[in-house]
Formats: sequence, structure tokens, C-alpha cells
Amino acid sequence: MPLPRGEDQLSVQDETKCVGVCYPGREPIIDYDGCVQLRYSYRLAPSPAQRIALARAFGCARVVFNDALAARQAAHKAGERYITDAAMSAALTASKDSPERAWLSGVSSVVLQQALADLNQAYRNYFNSLSGKRKGPKVGPPRFRSRKDSRQSVRFTANARFKVLDSGKLRLPKVGDVEVRWSRRLPAAPASVTVIRDAAGRFFASFVVEVSPQPLPVTGAGCGIDLGLDHFAVMDDGTKIASPRFLRRAEKKLRRAHKALSRKQEGSRNREKARVQVARAHARVTDARRDFHHKLSTKVIRENQAVTVEDLSVRGLARTRLAKSIHDAGWSAFVSMLEYKAKLYGREFRKAGRFEPTSQVCSACGVKDGPKPLHVREWTCKECGTVHDRDVNAARNIAALGRREALNARGGPVRPAATLAPAREAGSRRGAARAGTG
Ligand SMILES: [Zn+2]
Repeated sequence: MPLPRGEDQLSVQDETKCVGVCYPGREPIIDYDGCVQLRYSYRLAPSPAQRIALARAFGCARVVFNDALAARQAAHKAGERYITDAAMSAALTASKDSPERAWLSGVSSVVLQQALADLNQAYRNYFNSLSGKRKGPKVGPPRFRSRKDSRQSVRFTANARFKVLDSGKLRLPKVGDVEVRWSRRLPAAPASVTVIRDAAGRFFASFVVEVSPQPLPVTGAGCGIDLGLDHFAVMDDGTKIASPRFLRRAEKKLRRAHKALSRKQEGSRNREKARVQVARAHARVTDARRDFHHKLSTKVIRENQAVTVEDLSVRGLARTRLAKSIHDAGWSAFVSMLEYKAKLYGREFRKAGRFEPTSQVCSACGVKDGPKPLHVREWTCKECGTVHDRDVNAARNIAALGRREALNARGGPVRPAATLAPAREAGSRRGAARAGTG
């Protein structure tokens, strides 16, 4: 299949944040022994035969996942105990001897065991979410996978003997030597590789690589970032960052493709074509957005020793649900990049505590001015007369909160954070920090 024009210019996602299981980019950073696990993804160019072998692997992994989920659900319904991971794994091995499931032997057994591991992890996330052990948004119970899911994936671990060959090809057991488009070097030998087919029909290899921290030279600068309403982000120095034009253009194209799809007859060939167009437009938006997040987060981390952002859960419910979901989804992806890059490059990263009224407090004198409706973009402090831009004022308060938390963490008395704040504004910031304590 010839590639659509422009496809090659898409930057293939390089380092997404790391994940354990599940799909790339959705899980928090795994950090153990001081190492950071990162994901490096590259486009794959499988041959027609390899595509068939991969499709078989996706299918088998899906069946194993769904069988195991059905077994656990049945046990639950019958009032029996939760089937252990070990019992599941044994049942899988035994099922290969049965005529109905003998065809599972046609794919690498590691791929099948990893499908079980995905399910086990999904259950663990669900249980931990129920018990409150897992922070963040609530996680639902695992769901059945479908052939129609837009994203299909299988994972090979080191004991599957996948290998990056000297020729640059990726050797996958029972698939073959697949061509990889190396957009950048892998920094170390990968621990596992996930092969993904996305909705646009593109194949990717996503390697998990363990990286040691690479601290950058210490700088004195610190910054606070607020999630803007009209802008993607607003910095405490007054910089407002809009979504880049290429991203907005891609989003416009996506909307157009969506409209075209809705006009096509159900079940028609044209509809299928339109569906692929939508998937491609979608992939472009995702790639463009990730690219933008990477560039901005790298810049922020390079330039600042300490970065504070607002904890998203703090955000008021005032915004409309749609705008919020779109905006916040992008924001949390960006924030997790800041988080892992801070860890990687020896920077301090903080989320400003919950329930801090960052938009209500004057960042110059610290007076709490009360809540303001969303249309109020600018206000004048009644106490000190400073004219504030709503978002910039919030970003300044976030930066001040970050400095205060840093000092508290060090156990010292609250004193001017000379090492963190740019000197020019230290006075006013100190005021804001003090007021925030009260
Ligand atoms: Zn004031």
C-alpha cells in the first residue's frame, strides 16, 4: 500500500512516556532503582507475509485475553474465588493441547503469556482503583478486546528472543525479520518490544528501554505553568503558548474527515475509505500534538531547575465538559512528559497542591480577592492596585506554591527562594507565597 503523501514527514513518536502494560502512553512512569523506563517507538515496514503473521498474533493474543476474562467473570458470577495468575497461565498451556485451541501454537507463547499479563494488570488497576490505592481517575473493570479495536498490539519480552539484528531489522519469533525505520538510536538494549497496528493501518515497534538519569547543569531559574483557557499554557513570566498552527490545521482536517464519513452510506466501500481517512487524520493530530508536547516540555525542563504545574484535579468544573476533556487530555500528556523529563534530567517537578485558589489570590500582594467568573480575563487587585491577567496571575501563584513546597520539603524555615526564583521578581513572589500559607 503506497503511503499517503506527507506521511513520511510525520515525526514517528520517539520517546513517549513509559508504560508497563496496556497501550503505550497511558500508564505512569515506572521508576525503580533510580532508573527511568522510556518508550521508543519506530515505524515498521512488514512484508505482506509478516503482516499476516502479525495479524495472527494479534488475533491469538486477543482470544487468550478474552478467554481468560470470560473465565474470571464466570468464576465471579458463580461466587467462586478470583482465579490466580498462575492458574490462568497453566490453563493457557493446557488449552493448546485441545483441538479448539491448538492453533494457538502458531504464535510465540510469550505473546500469549503477555496477553494474560495485560489482563492481570488491568484487574490489579481496577482493584487498586476501587480500594483507593491507585490515585487518579477511576479505572473500570477490564473489557473484552475486539477485532474492530482501533489499536491492536502484542508484546514480546526478552525471553521471547526478539532481537535487533546488525542489519537493522527486528527479529520477531514466528513472524520474521521485520524492517524498521530507525528515526533515532536506541540508547540501550530494550527490555521488551510491543508491536502495534494503529487505526490507520500503520505498524510500530515500541521498545521499553531503561535509562539512567542524565542531570543537566544546574540553573537558578524556576517556573510555574497554568493551563490556559485560550492558550495551551501560560507561564509565570507572562509567556502565553498557543497550540501551534500545524496542529490546529490537522485538527481542522480531522473535523472535515469526520463530516465526510458521516455522510457515507453504512456498509459501503466509500464508507470504509472514509473511515481510513478519518483514522489517518486522527493519527496526524495525535502525532502533531505529541511532537508539540515533546518540544515544549523539553524546552521548559532545559531552561528551569524547578517546574510547578497545577494539579489538574484542582481545576474548577466551570469549563464546559467538551472543552475540558479535549484540553485536559492534552494537558495531562504534557504534564507526564514534564514529570519524566524532570526525573531524567535532574530537575524538580511539582504539582501545586489541591484546593489552592490560584486564580483568586493576587500574586503581587497576596490578598484573596474571591472567585471570579470565567469571562473575567483581567482584574485589578483592590488592595494593591496591580492589574492582573487572569492566567498569568494563576501561573505566578503556582510558581510561588512550588517554591514554598520546595522549602518545606527541605525542612528549612520559609525564606526567600533565591536559588529558585529569578531575582527580578523575588519580592512580589515572596509576598504571594506568604499569603498562600494563611
Ligand atoms: Zn494585590
